[in-house]
Amino acid sequence: MNYRVLLHFDEVSKMIKIAVLTCQEGLVQGVCQPTRIDWLPVLAHISPPELRRKEATKKMYQKLLDSPVLEINPILHSPPKHRLKSRKPIWSRGNQLLSQNFDISEAWTNSWISSDIPNKNLITSPSVKIPGFSLPRREWVLLNRFRTGQGRCAELMNLWGYTKDPNCACNVPQSMSHILDDCPLYKFNGGISNLHSVTPEALNWLKALPLRL
Ligand SMILES: [Zn+2]
Repeated sequence: MNYRVLLHFDEVSKMIKIAVLTCQEGLVQGVCQPTRIDWLPVLAHISPPELRRKEATKKMYQKLLDSPVLEINPILHSPPKHRLKSRKPIWSRGNQLLSQNFDISEAWTNSWISSDIPNKNLITSPSVKIPGFSLPRREWVLLNRFRTGQGRCAELMNLWGYTKDPNCACNVPQSMSHILDDCPLYKFNGGISNLHSVTPEALNWLKALPLRL
């Protein structure tokens, strides 16, 4: 028994080590601490999974309520007493979501507003498709790296252990915001809001930027 526990513990610690190493190498997007995963559903234009689950539960519950021929229908109208905390039957969750009039767009907007995501002010409604969705891959990736503040700039490459020099060619730490707003060599005069809106000037700047970020 002890041996099995030790084996199990060893396996778990190995997995944790691999996760940490992978994280340090920046290979897994969304696992590393500095990478905010909150941006990913917005960039992908797919609602966050926990909200989609709630929406699906609400729809399913409504459908079952509207189908008196189903055997479960009477149970929904007089559900059994809740006995185990760990159980989440559809009648309790569904009823709750229905009585709250759960709206996925509203819930997503509220969670976006209450978060501390970098550049969150660029987005007023996270469920709306963001500009630049049909850009070529290079420009789309670059644009999103500036939006999220996460990219292969010298400062982050140094932080991740890939390079020794965190400085830009202009001799100050090269963050994504430095390149966009402050760098005398590369900066974009329109700022992050024009870049986010993909104005013609922003697109030209992205195309001409001689950095691989
Ligand atoms: Zn610079």
